[in-house]
Amino acid sequence: IRHRLKCSGCGVELQSEDPSRAGYVPPGAGGGKGKDAKIVCKRCFRIRHYNEAVSVPMDDAQFLRILSGIGATRSTVLHIVDLFDFDGSVIPGLHRFVGDNPVVLAVNKADLLPKGVNQNRTVNWIRKLAKENGLKPAEVVLLSAKLNAGFDRLLEALRNHRNGRDIYVVGATNVGKSTLINRLISDYSDLDGELTVSPYPGTTLDVVSVPLEDGGAMIDTPGIVYPWRLTEMVGPATLRAVLPDKFVKPRVYQLDERQTLFFGALARFDFVKGEHQSFTCYVSNGIHVHRRKLDGADEFWEKHRGELLSPPNAGELASLPPLARHSLRIPPGAKMDVSISGLGWIQCSGLTGAMIDVYAPKGVKVVLRPSMI
Ligand code: GDP
Repeated sequence: IRHRLKCSGCGVELQSEDPSRAGYVPPGAGGGKGKDAKIVCKRCFRIRHYNEAVSVPMDDAQFLRILSGIGATRSTVLHIVDLFDFDGSVIPGLHRFVGDNPVVLAVNKADLLPKGVNQNRTVNWIRKLAKENGLKPAEVVLLSAKLNAGFDRLLEALRNHRNGRDIYVVGATNVGKSTLINRLISDYSDLDGELTVSPYPGTTLDVVSVPLEDGGAMIDTPGIVYPWRLTEMVGPATLRAVLPDKFVKPRVYQLDERQTLFFGALARFDFVKGEHQSFTCYVSNGIHVHRRKLDGADEFWEKHRGELLSPPNAGELASLPPLARHSLRIPPGAKMDVSISGLGWIQCSGLTGAMIDVYAPKGVKVVLRPSMI
């Protein structure tokens, strides 16, 4: 690809280096010669030929411009969040950017909840966390794009808050935005209508909008890459292990103080001080949890990371940031989750309180929150 060729679909600058970034075209792909060349990026190609949305990640500044642009329209915002990484995938300060437009909060990947978890309770928990994150959603919908569950409620919520306005779909990468939009396209869009190309408000970037049965359009926005998610730091093999693909089996550990849990070579959870109590791990079934005493844990880590302690393997470990420590205090009587963005969470029964040290690659968001389950 020669320098500065633009996609004839969306206008983004084309590149052949990184398939996961905006503007990708496979090397050698092209249409015609010279000025007649009509090259479209992979994203536009898929939308045009397969009616299929593909997520394109985007940097912060560009993303904030798009959000602010939405604030200048009269529209409805569909914010998609990953239930498995609520703290890491919620957009901080969303209302500041999108103005008075109503926000429907769709929390995806409900299929990952362990069996028997009460959905109403989960929705209440989401409302509480949304509030703590400064979000005032007009409606909260728990769903699974993968299992096609919860869509009736989502469509109803969108109908209630649309008044014929356009819907802007916003979310971080890997929350399942493409999967969800593709479902909405097949169930809700007017497939006889024309896909139209128009500029994103506030940017020079063009987007394809999907006409809806009852007028208006649904407009996908590029996925924002949040650097504090472990899922953004690891390579494809570790990503497969970290992203759960089916319901997560809770793993309960009865720990004495000065015992520790290693989550592969990705994180470490030290129970530094407190009475004997149980800790329940909600991480992908593909992550091995190794328990041992805290004394000598540093040496154990040095010796076994990338091998006994994996994923990631030794090669990939070299490209991860070093571990950073987070010291947390669970107050007595509080049932809380230690959430490690992109990895999962550890529920502390907390009857008698506990002092915890969590180690995760530097930059990963680690927070203490009210317990989900
Ligand atoms: P996007 O980056 O937000 O567009 O996300 P994708 O639609 O590409 O999905 C990211 C990952 O999440 C993929 O591995 C999907 O298979 C997975 N995924 C999407 N929706 C769901 C869901 O409802 N449940 C589960 N368990 N995984 C999902």
